[in-house]
Amino acid sequence: MKRLVLLGASGSIGMQTIDVVHQHPSDFEVIAFSVGHHIEKIAEILKDSPVKNICVQEEKDAIELAHVYPDIHFVYGDEGLCWLAEKCEYDLLVNALVGFVGFMPTLKAIESGHDVALANKETLVVGGKLIYEALHRCHRSLYPIDSEHSAIFQCLQGNRHAEVKRLIITASGGSFRTKNREELKDVTVEQALNHPNWTMGAKITIDSATMMNKGFEVTEAHWLFDMDYDHIDVLMHPESVVHSMVEYVDHSTIAQMGAADMRLPIQYALTWPQRYPLAQEHPLDLAEIGSLHFSKPDVRRFPLLALAYEAGRKGGNLDAVMNGANEEANAAFRKGIIPFLMIEEIVIRAVNLAPFKEVETVQDLMDGDVWGRNFARTQIERNRI
Ligand code: MG
Repeated sequence: MKRLVLLGASGSIGMQTIDVVHQHPSDFEVIAFSVGHHIEKIAEILKDSPVKNICVQEEKDAIELAHVYPDIHFVYGDEGLCWLAEKCEYDLLVNALVGFVGFMPTLKAIESGHDVALANKETLVVGGKLIYEALHRCHRSLYPIDSEHSAIFQCLQGNRHAEVKRLIITASGGSFRTKNREELKDVTVEQALNHPNWTMGAKITIDSATMMNKGFEVTEAHWLFDMDYDHIDVLMHPESVVHSMVEYVDHSTIAQMGAADMRLPIQYALTWPQRYPLAQEHPLDLAEIGSLHFSKPDVRRFPLLALAYEAGRKGGNLDAVMNGANEEANAAFRKGIIPFLMIEEIVIRAVNLAPFKEVETVQDLMDGDVWGRNFARTQIERNRI
């Protein structure tokens, strides 16, 4: 029995993780979880996962809930997330939080001797260097839940790192892949949230439309698989059937394919190195799909993809700045405060204008994050619709 702490239980990945756990009740057990503001989900999750510890966002919610559930210990806020990651008795942290808030609990889990299944990509985008160092120092493992990275992880099994020529991350292109830049000027939040292949949370769906998400995934791959940026390529693939590939030195290219169902990468992160059965309504049927398409990405059309490579190669605090500015700009677009194309303008300006600093400590990351957020907030105020 593997005991799990699940952060971000009420989100899209969190709920699908619970579904995977319920498919294998004798193998996995959620022993603690966090739900942020979605306290209405607690009762539903508790029905099948009776836990002793829960983290919520607000202190007042924690106090009220402690009266409703006297047998459960409630913690709250960012410190509560770290408390679950550090103090509970468990085997694997499943981090399905959204945003930089996911970084500290990941670090605390590793430093307290736990392995992590990571869906929170901002952890590696912002703090990849410190996480990489902590994993080596503490002899812990990180299992990717992002579909592309799970695909690469699967394609790497049984092969040697030295024989890898390059990683090829596939990209659907998001909700606006057929629109040119002129047409992007007045797209709406509703249009952006309508992803053609995947059902995901709001923040990541907007990041997919700007392709910031794909840029983040390049950075994630850099840290997860210890691969330099010159050997990580992005390939447009509108069908989202090939989830990513690894090319070896003999040019043999191994691809992982599957239905667009996040429960597969979630489950593989929990069961590795084994594979378990997974009940799927629509497993992959290549005959039905018929043909697959691939093309090179147009970095002028998607400048945030190019920006992520640039920030990653320069290193230091720039990834933290980029992510902080993007979190603010993404949220402002979702609230209808700025137009779609303003997201990328703000993020690009932030990275270009930020004072460069090497990252040695968590405080350096926090400073980069705050600089990016403050810069973005000023720009958002100036460019309000
Ligand atoms: Mg992905």
